[in-house]
Amino acid sequence: MIKENLEQIRATIPSGVTLVAVSKTKPVSDLQEAYDAGQRIFGENHALEMRDKHEVLPRDIQWHFIGHLQTNKIKYIIPFVTLIHSIDTANLLEAVNKEAKKHDRVVDCLLQFHIAQEETKFGLTLDEARQLLESDIFKQMHNIRICGVMGMATFTDDEAEVRKEFKNLKTVFDTLKKEYFADLPQFKEVSMGMSEDYPIAIEEGATLVRIGSKIFGARNYNV
Ligand SMILES: *Cc1c(COP(=O)(O)O)cnc(C)c1O
Repeated sequence: MIKENLEQIRATIPSGVTLVAVSKTKPVSDLQEAYDAGQRIFGENHALEMRDKHEVLPRDIQWHFIGHLQTNKIKYIIPFVTLIHSIDTANLLEAVNKEAKKHDRVVDCLLQFHIAQEETKFGLTLDEARQLLESDIFKQMHNIRICGVMGMATFTDDEAEVRKEFKNLKTVFDTLKKEYFADLPQFKEVSMGMSEDYPIAIEEGATLVRIGSKIFGARNYNV
């Protein structure tokens, strides 16, 4: 099933868009199945769960952290994480930088923006991001690299609303690119789109889509 799901999804994703297989809550055997079907990029949203899976699965997997990251959990993922999608405060970025320095790494990060109508979703505003990027503290951070932006749309059937939110995120990306990263080719990622809305996200300029349930089936949080 996982293999077939992956094949179906891949057929709908243009080249230039990267699929992150969101495997949170799923057993290692499911990830192995996706791996055997050629998937190499996995997304997780709990630090310890990601570390535990990393320890037992093949070394060439690229691990993307996509959830809310608590400062005291950073240390579990910094030795191996490929991309952190969810930087939502200056303090978190500073803490990631500090831990990355201990490991002599430069860790790639995305800035997460609040684009949804729901109050609960995490993320920066454009002004907060500007403040961060202009701060002296940021200029001293040599162990992180900002590679783009991430956002989550409102959970709704209203396609026009979702599209509007993705357009907003793309505009945020274009604005930051122009103001701060014009000469930095690494600033190129727009992480948006999940199982139910990724086709719209791709139309609106996503470079990374984060798809879970369409690959692995519905999640059961009660187990
Ligand atoms: C769970 C999750 C996804 C994947 O959601 P699906 O609807 O299962 O595709 C994508 N992004 C984030 C941040 C998530 O937490």
